[in-house]
Amino acid sequence: GRAFSSAVRQSSRFPKATLLSLSSKCAEEWLPQLDLGAEASKEREQLVEVLAGKTVLAREAEGKDIGFAPWSLCYGGHQFGSWANQLGDGRAISILSTPTTPEVKDATGFSTLELQLKGAGRTPYSRFADGLAVLRSSIREYLAAEAMAALRLPTSRALALVGIPDVKVRREMVETAAIVTRVASSWIRIGNFEIQSTRQEWDSLRTLTRFVGREVFEFKEPPADSKFGRGLGLHVLVEVAKRNAVMIAGWQSYGFMHGVMNTDNIAVTGACIDYGPYAFMDVFDSHHICNHSDDMGRYSFRNQPTMGMFAVTKLADALAELIGCEIDIAKNDEGSGFVQVDEGWGEGGIEAGWMAGWRKAGVEKLEDVKTEFVETFTNEYTRLMRLRLGFETAQKGDFDLISELLDLLELHSLDFTNSFRLLSQFTGTSSSHFSIFLDHLLPSDATTVTLPPTAREEWTKWLKKYEDRLAAELSEASDRRLRMNLVNPRFTLRQWVLEETIQKLDHQKGSVDPLERALRMAGAPFEAYGEVEIGKDECEVLNEEQKEER
Ligand code: AMP
Ligand code: MG
Ligand code: MG
Repeated sequence: GRAFSSAVRQSSRFPKATLLSLSSKCAEEWLPQLDLGAEASKEREQLVEVLAGKTVLAREAEGKDIGFAPWSLCYGGHQFGSWANQLGDGRAISILSTPTTPEVKDATGFSTLELQLKGAGRTPYSRFADGLAVLRSSIREYLAAEAMAALRLPTSRALALVGIPDVKVRREMVETAAIVTRVASSWIRIGNFEIQSTRQEWDSLRTLTRFVGREVFEFKEPPADSKFGRGLGLHVLVEVAKRNAVMIAGWQSYGFMHGVMNTDNIAVTGACIDYGPYAFMDVFDSHHICNHSDDMGRYSFRNQPTMGMFAVTKLADALAELIGCEIDIAKNDEGSGFVQVDEGWGEGGIEAGWMAGWRKAGVEKLEDVKTEFVETFTNEYTRLMRLRLGFETAQKGDFDLISELLDLLELHSLDFTNSFRLLSQFTGTSSSHFSIFLDHLLPSDATTVTLPPTAREEWTKWLKKYEDRLAAELSEASDRRLRMNLVNPRFTLRQWVLEETIQKLDHQKGSVDPLERALRMAGAPFEAYGEVEIGKDECEVLNEEQKEER
């Protein structure tokens, strides 16, 4: 319906568009039925036609019009905390939504695939803008989505990057245009709910809630252990809260900063969407702000969980009326609409619904939803951090140990990713390699910050605690190292990697090697890539120690 989306006649066609890169990992996982691997395959050629906006997918199946047309979603959003009114997909056009085979599940656990072209021209929601995307930012989005997936964090995917060499876009400077093909199970955001409630389109809000509950989340009946009664609206709210808590826990564990956590950029599925000014943490700084226009640091690293919670409360606001007067989820009320409006929706209208429902009982419910968010976040965060530290068991002091580690990293301005990776090579404070280990952990070359003389002492103190904690583990040290290397990346998509990739691609006009290389490394972040083996020269010693440990 028009209330949720608009059909888009792709007025822009790009005859000179060319495929710059195809993520074979994304293709294999998501479109296994297509033979896209072979450079010259017919299917690949046809796909490029579609992804470049040259061909629109068929409207007909077996001679029947299936009413299929590209579309863009209508949504609003709170941007930097203020209501921005209608936004919508101003430069994103969905071209296909289809169930995949049930074995194919995305990072959020769903088996639906929606293909979307970003930067393929104007849509009814473009407002004053051009509907295009520049190559630079498209490369960033393309690589980030694939990097996040390789880190096993819930994310939208990027299937392809198409360049439009003849289309120039004016931003701060004139740049080349590009199209990214994005994949997610659903692109519905918190902002889709907000625009309906702000417009007081209650029927649409109800239909949307029912769609998300039944089609996206595949709810059939309320969860058995439900603390939240049987209403669908509340279940949708709680589900969105939990999913986004899990997503943000992944960000905090892996040092990812989104940069624009506006409610129009928070997907209901808890997949990370909209890679704009994002950054992966370099030297650990919990106050880091990656978005240059975020003067107040609203979306700084440390604020991300709080801002996730803010977005959830905006969804709660949008659903308030609905939750205030909805009925059992299990009741089969297909005919009359999912929510029966026999309370508060009649005489007295919406205001009565609000008063009768949400305001009275709902305030407590919102507190419960917030608690759910915090608990889900904390559990997932500690789970991931335990894995990163090589713990298979859960012990009481773990959260504090993690916090102390982060404090030390921050105090000494150490590299977030490298430090975690190095911990897998820690073999004890009384090991003959301990001093070399500290040398690696605290690099002393003049290009990095000068460390206080107490640094080694402070680290030894923490590492002693870590050593004691490891003693509570049952597995062997060598197993731990292997396990840790499967969760602690050696490669991360640092700012300079992105800049170098973008620059080289520009300079070498036509050569996509730097891009392919970045994609390959981002897609396999746990490989050893020239990693230094501490005490490699003393192989014998290491072997002796390993024997001893056994
Ligand atoms: P973002 O900050 O990337 O989430 O974008 C905010 C809003 O602006 C969304 O509704 C986008 O669709 C829209 N938008 C951003 N860039 C463009 C563009 N070049 N053309 C049309 N709409 C855009
Ligand atoms: Mg956006
Ligand atoms: Mg964006």
